[in-house]
Amino acid sequence: MRHQTHQVQIGSVTIGGTNPVAIQSMTNTPTADIEATYAQIVELVQAGSELVRITVNDQEAAKAVPFIKERMVAHGLKTPLIGDFHYNGHTLLRNHTDCAQSLDKYRINPGNVGTKEAHDYNFRTMVEIAIKHQKPVRIGVNWGSLDQELFTKLMDVNSWQKSPLSSQEVLYEAMVQSALNSAELAEKTGLTPDKIVLSVKMSDVQDVVKVYQILASRCHYALHVGLTEAGQGAKGLIASSAALAILLQQGIGDTIRISLTPEPGAARAREVEACQLLLQTMGIRNFRPLISSCPGCGRTDSDFYQQLAKQINDHISEKMPEWSHKYPGIENLKIAVMGCIVNGPGESRHADIGISLPGKTEAPIAPVYVHGRQYTVLKGQNIPQEFIQILDEYISQNYSISKD
Ligand code: SF4
Repeated sequence: MRHQTHQVQIGSVTIGGTNPVAIQSMTNTPTADIEATYAQIVELVQAGSELVRITVNDQEAAKAVPFIKERMVAHGLKTPLIGDFHYNGHTLLRNHTDCAQSLDKYRINPGNVGTKEAHDYNFRTMVEIAIKHQKPVRIGVNWGSLDQELFTKLMDVNSWQKSPLSSQEVLYEAMVQSALNSAELAEKTGLTPDKIVLSVKMSDVQDVVKVYQILASRCHYALHVGLTEAGQGAKGLIASSAALAILLQQGIGDTIRISLTPEPGAARAREVEACQLLLQTMGIRNFRPLISSCPGCGRTDSDFYQQLAKQINDHISEKMPEWSHKYPGIENLKIAVMGCIVNGPGESRHADIGISLPGKTEAPIAPVYVHGRQYTVLKGQNIPQEFIQILDEYISQNYSISKD
């Protein structure tokens, strides 16, 4: 059951309510470098990012924003562009009206908008600009930049209690209160709930699950969910997936980001692919045909089936830009590539189309299954090419718009 939240229109995308969980990502180029930032936005959008955030950290970045947006519009990119502000957002938005107008949403970190009286004044300034330009805001609390005055105050109050909470529980409370107090201040300033998105990111899986559960139990604002500072490689992927899977399963999350540290030279768009795979493997949204393949074991005597799984995966990646226009519903296709007779025929029968390769003691033949029935048997050196040809024919026959 999805947690009930307000719908929020962010440029061309609506999140919250019953809208699909949207994928977002963030560039890591200097925003002032218009060429590089635009190129990375294109990369992220082509990978499937439905919202893209860029940092707006100084005057040069603020001046670049309208040119980046202009270029996106000129090339037909309707993906909402979000500005990420810290410390000086009130000044940049006030002094750069074109920037304020070009962005589709502002991210405000209430821990980084100043202290004492300046805190509320700076925060309200940004919200007033958002109201003036009819933009939504994300109040993005991060435990690495949590409002220390609030945390200290809550720790003090807690220490006077008969049964004080643990410092970790006070930390959760401070995260949630920082988000909710800021949302209250935003509403008092005139921003409506359908223009507010909240996030409370932490870097530990159990922490982020707990803090979002508390937040979701206390409000109906749309929620941006993610594990901050997730890390690199498998650690980042697994930690993010573990945290987001628990929350999504509980209906918490209207938009997600997987904040991976890229491997040197790796594509920034990996974080988008990770979000897609997470949503698809959880059965929440489908994006591309999925391949089920076995891990292999001593019954296989070569990496032949691994190669076949990779070839099919690469084939899908290459063809998807064309298929996604040509074949509606192609994202729901299930393919099986299996290593031997033990689970091969069974798994292949459960897929729309599957192939079971011969194990080392089996006859050198590879039965192909379509809709649960044996369709043909392949043998010889050209099994990969022949299977890919059968796959292409299957897709053409079953997903063409003109198949009726
Ligand atoms: S299907 Fe066959 S090759 Fe694959 S893991 Fe199972 S027993 Fe091993």
